[in-house]
Amino acid sequence: MTRASEALTEALKEQEEGLLNCVHCGFCLPACPTYRRLGDEADSPRGRLHLMRAVTEGRLDPGSDAYQLHIDRCLGCRACEPVCPSGVAYGHLLELARGVGRAARRPSLLSRLLPRVFGTPWIARPAMLAARLFRATKIPALAARLRFGGGPPGPIRLGMAMLAASAPGGRPGPSAPSAPGTRRQAARPRAPRPATPAPRVAILTGCVQAGLFARVNAATVRVLRANGYEVVAAPAQGCCGALHAHAGDLGRAAELARRNVEAFEAAGADYIALNASGCGAAMAGYGSLLGGDEEIAGRAEAVAARVRDVSELLAMRGPLPGGEIAIAVTYDPPCHLLHAQGVSGPPETVLRAVPGVEIVPLAGAAECCGGAGIYGLTHRDLGAWIGGDKVRSVVESGAAALVTGNPGCMMQIGAGLRLAGRTTRILHVVELLDASYERGGVYGRSGG
Ligand code: SF4
Ligand code: SF4
Repeated sequence: MTRASEALTEALKEQEEGLLNCVHCGFCLPACPTYRRLGDEADSPRGRLHLMRAVTEGRLDPGSDAYQLHIDRCLGCRACEPVCPSGVAYGHLLELARGVGRAARRPSLLSRLLPRVFGTPWIARPAMLAARLFRATKIPALAARLRFGGGPPGPIRLGMAMLAASAPGGRPGPSAPSAPGTRRQAARPRAPRPATPAPRVAILTGCVQAGLFARVNAATVRVLRANGYEVVAAPAQGCCGALHAHAGDLGRAAELARRNVEAFEAAGADYIALNASGCGAAMAGYGSLLGGDEEIAGRAEAVAARVRDVSELLAMRGPLPGGEIAIAVTYDPPCHLLHAQGVSGPPETVLRAVPGVEIVPLAGAAECCGGAGIYGLTHRDLGAWIGGDKVRSVVESGAAALVTGNPGCMMQIGAGLRLAGRTTRILHVVELLDASYERGGVYGRSGG
């Protein structure tokens, strides 16, 4: 074992109480996408906790194939947390376990490369610019349409489909036919705003979000302003470190977190708005990530306490209803919003502010889409299997658009739909509200 691996194993050992909290009841097994598909105990939350314990007790080498394979195969979706009666903090334990595994054996090139790109602004910015220019050529969209027989798509074709799926889908247009059991939202009267000072909000602009989904960031600013928030800048912010933490690079994740704690303290906002739930879960966890650093731990907790998904902020203020958009949508809750942050109602509250929208139920909505950060790229077979089931649910819902709240989910599900030859639109929750506000003239009236 290397020195780094030993140190991290010690850190995991310090969480022994958390590991021992698991009473092996198995309630988490049906919620786990990898266990449900592979049927292997070692690919379940309980099995992975068992592997972690074996390492802390010196019974298993963290460089062993068994440890590396099963810890690596976890999506990090955290669907196992809310169903666990013992409150096992699986997400935190997984990050430590990944750190131990990473120190014992070098991860794959892709697992090292992508977090490095996003965590280094002078690489990320030109890389994102190149991606946008390439996307504008329409070559990625064309490549995603080509058919090469069955099986999971090759990495280049999958990457092309994901890039194509990040492109603006156009403003929502005419309605899809009504699905059974759904009702159109009726226009609601506008509620008067209370005469209180506008809460101040700083937005995490993100790496992929700023690079490929700038329209979602712009929509976020507009809808927050329209709902009475003052949007303030946090110019010193950077990558949230989510990809690094998920990959077990806790040292780099902590560096990036420290920088953001300082940046958002300087912004002096009441809230930090997130429109990428993977980043939201990472920032909400800054307190535990930096908990060992006395100098900044309390400040990290204070910043984390101000983190809100944009849908929560909008739901807190109403939100204002917009103009009618007659469209049938289905909502896929991102894992890091639903399971990691426990946010379930607010996105639907936002969708209800769009008169004319039908919300169509999505079978298996609570299950991961298989994107899970870079999982869709690093585990193409399993990612495509899990993602394929999600795409099937979306198609069977009959919705004209899939609405979600995370760029990774938009790209993963969007890529799956494109590769399946489907034209279902992919929209962020705030994109739909923004279009409704434009249609209803809300911005002219609110000054948003
Ligand atoms: S539900 Fe919780 S306590 Fe039960 S096996 Fe899963 S992790 Fe362990
Ligand atoms: S995080 Fe997701 S994939 Fe990993 S053990 Fe929990 S439920 Fe299974």
